[in-house]
Amino acid sequence: MLHPVFSIVVPCYNEQEVLDETHKRLSSVMQKMGEPYEIVYINDGSRDQTPLMLNRLAEQDPAVRVVHFARNRGHQIAVSAGLDYAAGDAVVIIDADLQDPPEIIPEMTEKWREGYEVVYGQRRSRKGESKLKELTAGLYYTFLRKLAGDIFPRDTGDFRLVDRKAVNVVRKMPEHARYLRGMFSWVGFKQTPVLFDRDKRFAGETHYPLRKMLRLAGDGIVSFSDKPLSLGLFLGLLFGGFGCLGALILFILMIAGVPGGLWWLAILLLIMGGSILFTLGIMGRYLARIFDDVKGRPLYVVADTRGIPAE
Ligand code: UDP
Ligand code: MG
Repeated sequence: MLHPVFSIVVPCYNEQEVLDETHKRLSSVMQKMGEPYEIVYINDGSRDQTPLMLNRLAEQDPAVRVVHFARNRGHQIAVSAGLDYAAGDAVVIIDADLQDPPEIIPEMTEKWREGYEVVYGQRRSRKGESKLKELTAGLYYTFLRKLAGDIFPRDTGDFRLVDRKAVNVVRKMPEHARYLRGMFSWVGFKQTPVLFDRDKRFAGETHYPLRKMLRLAGDGIVSFSDKPLSLGLFLGLLFGGFGCLGALILFILMIAGVPGGLWWLAILLLIMGGSILFTLGIMGRYLARIFDDVKGRPLYVVADTRGIPAE
């Protein structure tokens, strides 16, 4: 079998409504480019017809590779597994739901041929996304860039083409809290955007409920910045300063013989207690991720594969 120039990595979780269409569109784009390619589908513990449909695709199309996870591990880990199985010189990461248009891949390829190692899709517009999501996403990225420095490009998800060199670096990063877009930025090399319009989901529903979204957002911050850990230091200094000032004022009032009330004590205690618990909570988030990494469990467990060529 020919060594693939391109590997397309597609994470799939309950995508029965879109898979056939996705495969059709991906294949037609890749065939037009006229170079050997493979499509690596990661079945992230789907509970619908996705596994069967993927196996069928693998039977019909020799370019298809399928990796079945033993259970759902989440989008970022599914893509990480795809990077492990991809053999191509360039790897494209793309969602299964056709929100990332495959037709952009040739343009990404041109940039790759010009010598860029990471070509990331940058959203010019987003269809079918609520104003609230746009607003919160905007705020989040501003915050992240403040904390972690400006290596993170705006309006960028995981849709990208990555050179083998960058793929190999990211594969060597053992962290369990995987924020891949950040990891690819961290790697460095020559990076460039390609603008695209993000479509609506072709069919089916989002598998990113608020809970998963918040976790991903947390991973981005915790994995790329230790600034939140200094918050306790800052609050401690702040309240310590206020405390000294307050003591001085009370002392003066006492000498002047002004009778004092205690209502402010309750407020002070609440603010103090709140900030102590808040900083403890932040430390907990870091601790949880250290714990995850220290356990050293595998990122994912593979139950079955199809179409993977024997080494
Ligand atoms: N996905 C996955 N595992 C999950 C959730 C999602 O592999 O636990 C895949 C999903 O099949 C899709 C991609 O990740 O290919 C993006 O998910 P989705 O479209 O649901 O998220 P959204 O685009 O709404 O943020
Ligand atoms: Mg989607």
